[in-house]
Amino acid sequence: MTHGDLREAIVSHAASLFTRGLSPGTSGNISVRTDDGFLMTPTGASFGALDASRLSRLDANGRHLDGDPPTKEAFLHTAMYAERPEARAIVHLHSTYAVAVACLADADPDDVLPPLTPYYVMRVGRLPLVRYAAPGDRSLAAAVRAGARASHALLLANHGPIVAGRSLDAAAAAAEEIEETAKLVLLLADRRARRLTADEVAELRQRFGS
Ligand code: ZN
Repeated sequence: MTHGDLREAIVSHAASLFTRGLSPGTSGNISVRTDDGFLMTPTGASFGALDASRLSRLDANGRHLDGDPPTKEAFLHTAMYAERPEARAIVHLHSTYAVAVACLADADPDDVLPPLTPYYVMRVGRLPLVRYAAPGDRSLAAAVRAGARASHALLLANHGPIVAGRSLDAAAAAAEEIEETAKLVLLLADRRARRLTADEVAELRQRFGS
C-alpha cells in the first residue's frame, strides 16, 4: 500500500470505530508501520473527524517529521513495534467494556479474558494485563515491551487494550474482538459459562495459527 492508501485506511478504520462507540471523545489511537517509519493519529483528535493529510508522520526512531503532533501515547506504539517485527499496525482503544474488564480487581494478569468463542481465540489468543501506570508514565513503555514479547495483544490496567497486527484490518478486528469478548464476560457475570476446552483452543491454534 502507498502512504496515501495507508492514510485513507487509518481514517476509515477510525471513523468506523468512532461511529460504533469504540473510541469515545478523543480517546484511542492508530498507527501503521511504513517502509521508513510510522503514520499515527494526532494528539487530541477525534476518530470521527480525522484529516488524512494531517496524520502524524514519524521516522523509524519515533521522531515527529511532519503532520500534526502525534498522540501522547506514541511511545506505547513504538515500544510494541520494537518487540513485534511482524507488526504492521497497532490499534489502541479506551472502549467501554474492555476498560471495565481492565478495572476488575481479580483479573488473571497472565490472561484476562477466557476463551469463550473461536473468533476470540483466532484473532486475539491471549491477553496479558499490564500493570497500571499513569498516562504518559514512561515506565509503561518497558512494561508494554515485556508484555509484547509474549503476546500481540495487551490490556493496560484501568486503561484499555493495545493490539498489534500484521495489517491494520487484523489489528482493528482483534481490538473489536476484545471488546466483544469483554462484553460477553460482563453479560455472563456470575453465570456458569462453558469455556472452550484446552483441546478446542489447541485445535484452533493449530488450524488458524493464533
Ligand atoms: Zn490510552
